[in-house]
Amino acid sequence: MSGRTERSAIGVLALQGDFAEHVAVLRRLGVGAVEVRLPEQLEGLDGLIIPGGESTTIARLMHQWGLVEPVRQRAREGMAVWGTCAGAIVLAERAPSLDRPGLRLMDIGVERNAFGRQVDGFEVDLDVPELGPPAFRAVFIRAPFISDVGPKATALATLADGTVAAARQDNLLATAFHPELTDDLRFHRYFLDLAAARAPSAAGLPAAG
Ligand code: GLN
Repeated sequence: MSGRTERSAIGVLALQGDFAEHVAVLRRLGVGAVEVRLPEQLEGLDGLIIPGGESTTIARLMHQWGLVEPVRQRAREGMAVWGTCAGAIVLAERAPSLDRPGLRLMDIGVERNAFGRQVDGFEVDLDVPELGPPAFRAVFIRAPFISDVGPKATALATLADGTVAAARQDNLLATAFHPELTDDLRFHRYFLDLAAARAPSAAGLPAAG
């Protein structure tokens, strides 16, 4: 290793959707993120963000560019993966309304556009115990429901009506909303810590945060 102090190498899947916003947030945190479009760009990454956008398109392009199996493989080896909104749909083991299989990595079920057509977007203050106070201003845009959380995953945040809005399973993170569209960097920091803890290069070093 070069002795640099930055914690880990992070990629953002850049096939479709709001990947540029994630890259910008990471930059603000001092992380030079790699835009990932090809399987070989996964090499050496400790974490990968799958952005919001259109899950059907992202899944189709991932198949087209041969990214599905390599991402599954790298995630099994410990690479942290975070899906925001459409990305969470792609990450889910159960996504019946996706027209082809996504990554099926995370023990959650999701329903696309489940908040109803008339509610395209809304914002809400979410309590996220893992982040601590204050509440996280969560932006939902044609968001999915996390409709079930299986035994391998844990809910991290729920709406007032009990709907799960964020979940985690070891190195995997899913948020139905878009932290990349706010100035609150805590979810990105949380993911960086996840990736750093999992990074092979971090073995023997204290995890960041
Ligand atoms: N509705 C989109 C989908 O089903 C997700 C929207 C988003 O990522 N903001 O893929």
